[in-house]
Amino acid sequence: MTFALPIIPPDRITGLVRGAPSAGGGIELPVFYPATGAQVSTLIEDDARAVDAAVAAARTAFDRGPWPGLGVPQRIEVLEACRETILTHAEELARLECAATGLILRELRERHIKRAAYNFRFFAEFISQSAGQSFDQTPGYMTTVSRVPVGVAALIAPWNAPVALATMKIAAALAFGNTCVLKPSEQTPLALARLVALLQDVLPEGVLNLVNGRGPVTGAALVAHEGVDRVSFTGGTETGRAIMSAAGRNLVPCTLELGGKSANMIFASADLDRAVDGALLGIFSNNGQQCLAGSRILVERSVFDEVLGRFTERAGRLRVGDPLAAETELGPLASAAHRDRVLSYVGIAQADGGRVVTGGTRRDDLGAGYFVAPTAVTVPTNAARVAQEEIFGPFATFLPFDSTDEAIAMANDTQFGLVSYVWSDHLPTVMRVSGAMRSGVVWVNTPMMRELRAPFGGFKTSGVGREGGASCEAFYTEERTVTIPTTPPPLRKLGLGDAP
Ligand code: NDP
Repeated sequence: MTFALPIIPPDRITGLVRGAPSAGGGIELPVFYPATGAQVSTLIEDDARAVDAAVAAARTAFDRGPWPGLGVPQRIEVLEACRETILTHAEELARLECAATGLILRELRERHIKRAAYNFRFFAEFISQSAGQSFDQTPGYMTTVSRVPVGVAALIAPWNAPVALATMKIAAALAFGNTCVLKPSEQTPLALARLVALLQDVLPEGVLNLVNGRGPVTGAALVAHEGVDRVSFTGGTETGRAIMSAAGRNLVPCTLELGGKSANMIFASADLDRAVDGALLGIFSNNGQQCLAGSRILVERSVFDEVLGRFTERAGRLRVGDPLAAETELGPLASAAHRDRVLSYVGIAQADGGRVVTGGTRRDDLGAGYFVAPTAVTVPTNAARVAQEEIFGPFATFLPFDSTDEAIAMANDTQFGLVSYVWSDHLPTVMRVSGAMRSGVVWVNTPMMRELRAPFGGFKTSGVGREGGASCEAFYTEERTVTIPTTPPPLRKLGLGDAP
């Protein structure tokens, strides 16, 4: 079986610096369509010199270009034009995104690309409401605090939702007057390369630059560059550690949006129909590849068998296959290596005494793409590796609990702390559990409701800093305090002694 390509992408993908192809200098890297395993394009890697040129372009645009000093109404107009550009090219961007990620085209059209456009509108609206502060409590003085752009932002985007996640970073960095250099994942550069090219028509020269290549090569050169003032990263926890140490040497602040092993707690007091729907969405949407997945499903023992049975039955009926088909619910994983890594957790679960209740296999009947059957396992304890490690695939780990205290303890017994899900119609349980979670986000009786005004990010190894309206403003600006005497008071006079 061979699925049709969503689009024929350009043969070669390069970075973009001041709107022109970047210097490259690195190796050529294949880009594959995950639904067929066919190579669809070739990426030209940017080496450290090419990264240097991109940072220099962003620096020049910041130091000498119009962007940081543009009035807010003008900046809003440009952000709105970015949104329009995305919407005008929505179908092309969705298809390019599909061609490198294997994400379902319908989802890309309805959610990712719309979100990408909205990211620009959101930050345009946000800056229209931002204001500085002034303090006049000390008689005779006025002190103002304004937020000023920081400079050059390095933006590192992952492969699981490249356009939706990168545009959050781009829109935020630009809205607050910065210039930037974006590095997508080398596996999924297609839609972002096109988007950056399209945005050159609406942004001043050098404001948004693109470099491509492997994380340890291009990404590492970018985050360690002395011309960078902020680093915003979404990706794995181990990469986050490397990035924070590199940026730390330059005393550059980072936001790191990292991994998760989020507890999805289903209490007997829940609306079980809704909880099962939410559990399926929480682990199988986005082809199972999402940091906020509810991958550790903890169920109160009295309803454990019922919930597991209903979940398993529905998981077995998920329509796995062609990302272009309207009925598909689960597409391929992003790469062959990632598929193999996800499936390696089947043996790991069994070695820890776990049992596979559904899936756990490749779907080679679907051809050479990176398809995996929706998988659920039960394990005897929360210490099992599949209950502790981020798998980042369509792989749910089930565990029973006997009391609210035990649910809370198990949910928090992890190195991660991104999201917790609580399903219960008993208000005291909801209040108690949500108040006890050591996670940056708690979703009650709903999966994955991201409110952009609210901070999003993790406790513990799930991240550093937050993304969202005011959090991004704090991150992408510096505060400058100016004090002026309004009615200049007399100053203490020094140096009026006798001359020596
Ligand atoms: P990474 O964290 O390595 O990749 C994310 C981004 O960081 C990519 O653009 C990558 O480039 C880049 N990168 C990698 N190393 C460096 C570096 N030293 N300096 C700068 N940039 C770098 O994710 P992986 O692909 O390795 O995935 C590993 C695991 O991470 C997944 O299995 C999953 O558990 C988790 N993950 C979490 C995500 C989230 O949303 N929080 C997103 C993606 C992964 P390139 O890909 O080109 O090498």
